[in-house]
Amino acid sequence: MLPVPSRPTPLLDDQFRPLNLADHYACPLCLQGQVQSLFLTEALACQRCRHIFTVDLPNQQIRVTDSPDSMGWAWTGKTWKIIRPAAQRLTQTIGWVAGLLIGLPATLVWLGGYLFPPLSSSPGELPFAVLWAGLTLVAHSVVVLWLLASYYQLPVYLGAMIRAWKYQYLS
Ligand SMILES: [Zn+2]
Repeated sequence: MLPVPSRPTPLLDDQFRPLNLADHYACPLCLQGQVQSLFLTEALACQRCRHIFTVDLPNQQIRVTDSPDSMGWAWTGKTWKIIRPAAQRLTQTIGWVAGLLIGLPATLVWLGGYLFPPLSSSPGELPFAVLWAGLTLVAHSVVVLWLLASYYQLPVYLGAMIRAWKYQYLS
């Protein structure tokens, strides 16, 4: 009797693993810590950034619960993939308010310099009002972008905050 050749079994990639509460995964928010299940709950928590995530096992998704914007991620088996509709909920109202906070002060400063120009200014010199309006625009842009990054808990912002915290307290 001829030996029956064994059928090659489909090899699972070593790194592929489904989302389950018994395992631990890289934190999708701070990218530095690890999320693992909270005792007796169906939630994951990061030991580094302390965020808590609800778990949707059938859809292999998690969603941050302790943030104003409930960002979500889908587990691909190897890594997290951000769920776009929730992550991009930068509403039109917030966009308008951010635009006003950036543009209005700089416009008012420029308008003041335009309506009431200095009595003596040498030709070819950059008017002080334009320079001051530019500085106002840059300063307000930084503040608004910082607020948005903080509100939406952007990973870049969280990573920077964690690095700053480590530098301050662990060095
Ligand atoms: Zn984290």
